[in-house]
Amino acid sequence: MKAQDAHGGTAEAVNGAGPAVEYTSYDTLYIDGAWRPAAGADAIAVVNPADEQVIAHVPAGGAEDVDAAVRAARAALPGWAATAPAERAARLTALRDALAARQDEIAATVTAELGAPPALAHAVHAGMPVVVAGSYAELAAAFPFEEKTGNSTVLLEPVGVVGAITPWNYPLHQVVAKVAPALAAGCTVVLKPAEDTPLTARHFADAVHEAGLPAGVFNLVTGLGPVAGQALAEHPGVDMVSFTGSTAVGRKIGAIAGAAVKRCALELGGKSANVILPGADLARAVSVGVANVMANSGQTCSAWTRMLVHRDRYEEAVALAAEAAARYVPGERIGPLVSAAQRERVRTYIERGIAEGARLVAGGPDAPLPAGYYVSPTVFADVTPGMTIAQEEIFGPVVSILGYEDEDDALRIANGTVYGLAGAVWAEDDETAAAFGRRMDTGQVDVNGGRFNPLAPFGGWKQSGVGRELGVHGLAEYLQTKSLQF
Ligand code: NAD
Repeated sequence: MKAQDAHGGTAEAVNGAGPAVEYTSYDTLYIDGAWRPAAGADAIAVVNPADEQVIAHVPAGGAEDVDAAVRAARAALPGWAATAPAERAARLTALRDALAARQDEIAATVTAELGAPPALAHAVHAGMPVVVAGSYAELAAAFPFEEKTGNSTVLLEPVGVVGAITPWNYPLHQVVAKVAPALAAGCTVVLKPAEDTPLTARHFADAVHEAGLPAGVFNLVTGLGPVAGQALAEHPGVDMVSFTGSTAVGRKIGAIAGAAVKRCALELGGKSANVILPGADLARAVSVGVANVMANSGQTCSAWTRMLVHRDRYEEAVALAAEAAARYVPGERIGPLVSAAQRERVRTYIERGIAEGARLVAGGPDAPLPAGYYVSPTVFADVTPGMTIAQEEIFGPVVSILGYEDEDDALRIANGTVYGLAGAVWAEDDETAAAFGRRMDTGQVDVNGGRFNPLAPFGGWKQSGVGRELGVHGLAEYLQTKSLQF
């Protein structure tokens, strides 16, 4: 069966192991307020990681497409920057509503291209961005874009054209966490989403269109990182690059931005510690800790991948963690990894853990798995701080359990990596836990479990990044100051 889709592609039914999806071949990019043909014919195949079927092709945009998108964004900048904050807020409210109206469709797409189980896709992948977009609609309306200090008036003005480059792990959240604050600030945007998950970004562009944003304020160019991504970062018409992804690519983006002296925000990797202090409810801390890593198959930059437990309760924690991990049945409660390459990367880390002497207590390389890019939920005990699996980001369903002697030892281990993105601490009361959290070298700490707060700044210390996302700190990234002295 073939049908013409809304963006000029062709669709036909494909039956994979998961729910049936419509194969679609797209040949358009969203530039200057419309879906337009890409300049070249290069295409990217989008694969369903749960059954390894090709579910779509999208254009692999090149420098010419990026240039057209940046020109559109530049042309739209003066008008959008001068638009009253209340009107920008109204468009963001419409964007939030358009995303909410598409929540089912977006969730199905995230399941198809990322492999996220449907419940997670609906509640988190498709749901959280609605909340974040709504938070920026409110902030745009309430934020003081002008302030007084002594005899000066300080104007907070948009940085300009933003090049946003996003990863595949939370395909819509990563986009909204950049585009919503940029638009709230009065910036215009060119988005280059991850090549593994471009279909969700197309839904986002449809939502932008429906929300009535002026042409050129938001533009989408799908493509490969070293081609479209690099062309975007290097484009002289881009005033700021906002990047989320690996530390390796973040370094390159930072170097490009540094050479051109343009603003740069980097949200990079993590190796977050889950510190369980002696007085904590061990069963709860371990089960929430394992769940935190297994969510999204371990493909979460802030995942608490290192569990730190006092020596006195170490074996008890190891048994609880192994039991908890075994409840994540691949193909049911936990999805596959995004790609064959990621699966290989994670398997290599698991083999490295075994080779370096860690004790495998759940999962591992030999556990039976369904077809698709699955990795068995894995728990390592007897992990020491110097091991590779205790230092490097694995980005898969792997928990490393480390023992500590006392609080100072726990703190040394927790702070002893090049990363500092997130973390957790558990104790008999919030005060004790928070006192430890204050000593951690990291951008965010969940105290006795914590709860997601879309207004709390998120971002890294050390090699986890530069800059913040979410809330008012996320908005400030896209503003530059001008002071008028009287
Ligand atoms: P990646 O760095 O390979 O890719 C991220 C994005 O950068 C993609 O859109 C890709 O196409 C693009 N890219 C790749 N090479 C490029 C280049 N030379 N020039 C310009 N753009 C380029 O990362 P990934 O594998 O997609 O994502 C996984 C990584 O992202 C993990 O390390 C994870 O920790 C990190 N991450 C961080 C956060 C955070 O908020 N700190 C959130 C999610 C993921």
